[in-house]
Amino acid sequence: MAGSKMQLELSRVVQGKSRLGVLKGLGRTGRHSLEVPGCLLYTRFGTVPHLTQDTLHTMSSLPSVSQVTLSNIAEHQEVLEEFKDGFRRFAGLHDTVLYCSLHDPAALCPTGYTTNKTVSVWGSGGRIELTVAKFMALQKTVQPDWYQSMADGETWQNNTSRKRVRKSVDRTLAHLDECLLLHQKSQELEGVEVFGVVEGGDILEERLRSARETAKRPVAGFCLDGLQSGSMDQTLRTQLITALTKELPEDKPRLLQGVGRPDEVLACVEAGVDLFESFFPFQVTERGCALCFSFDISPDPERAVLELNEENKAVGETQQNGDRNRDDQTQMTSFEIDLKDKRYQDDFRPLVEGCGCYCCKNHQRAYLHHLLVTNELLAGVLLMIHNTTHYYGFFSVLREALASDKLDLLKRRVLGDGGWQTGRKE
Ligand SMILES: [Zn+2]
Repeated sequence: MAGSKMQLELSRVVQGKSRLGVLKGLGRTGRHSLEVPGCLLYTRFGTVPHLTQDTLHTMSSLPSVSQVTLSNIAEHQEVLEEFKDGFRRFAGLHDTVLYCSLHDPAALCPTGYTTNKTVSVWGSGGRIELTVAKFMALQKTVQPDWYQSMADGETWQNNTSRKRVRKSVDRTLAHLDECLLLHQKSQELEGVEVFGVVEGGDILEERLRSARETAKRPVAGFCLDGLQSGSMDQTLRTQLITALTKELPEDKPRLLQGVGRPDEVLACVEAGVDLFESFFPFQVTERGCALCFSFDISPDPERAVLELNEENKAVGETQQNGDRNRDDQTQMTSFEIDLKDKRYQDDFRPLVEGCGCYCCKNHQRAYLHHLLVTNELLAGVLLMIHNTTHYYGFFSVLREALASDKLDLLKRRVLGDGGWQTGRKE
């Protein structure tokens, strides 16, 4: 937008694609920044699930940008309008940059409800149909710092026809033009940034057309939609992202929606993605699991391998199961351990040896196992603290790896030197 303050300063581009840098000038005051590759703070209605603002702010290296979604907010439009002071104040948020997206990446979104003029979101009370006018009225009420433009993202399933994909690209561009028109006329949205949405399903030429056309519009950045986990395999996702990012300007951020697994994050960063949503640690928490994958790239590889082997022993057959169901977001992945499992009832180690989070410093796996089997609310709190810390730690090491040419080493660590994938045990 005219007068936009957001600026992406790239310090390094590795092999022409993986980008390291800082997104500066964020928020109304322009004081905030966010390192890339990085992620946004996942929230539901402004709250990181299970955590109070107090608990949240005891954690270090939190992303400076919080994500809220219209699927959570749309049904409260009237109350927010009456409140008048914007969502940030309504939810009692601290000084954070607010990004408003359309759908909750951790919630299922039924398909078959978009029309030429409307997109539907699902809140706790059911479906809410949004026209561009209603969508923009909501943005005025929420008063975010950035928002995702309205988009028809229903073409992620791999059996979607070419005709339907083309229609989704056309509609999404039409929505963007309408959003921009209303945006430019609105005083309330002055200084707010718009992210255009790149659609195109799994059809390369539609992806390229969507990217090229969106890039012609005055947007501050790009959301890459319809590439989420479960929609396609990583080889195809990498091909599409690599091709479409070539059509996007270098100096604007690319946010990938719906991808959070560490192996997929690494592959997508290598294809040119800058930002991710951080719903993955929340999903892991919800199934009573703890993230435990290694991302140690310190110059003591022997120790890291030892730790990894230790985890391999602990996880055993559940890994195999997790890998088989790798495309289902609700299924366990090979990056976590299931603390509800009986084997942890007398395991007195922290979730992850050496982890500096509150949970690992004060509790053992056996205690978490107990909290989970007795359905104590504290289980979710402690798991969320650990999982979030572990996940943000991974992103911070990812940036370090890009800065010091250690991306290959990090990939070997995260993917378990091929051990987990090939089923190596003991
Ligand atoms: Zn921990």
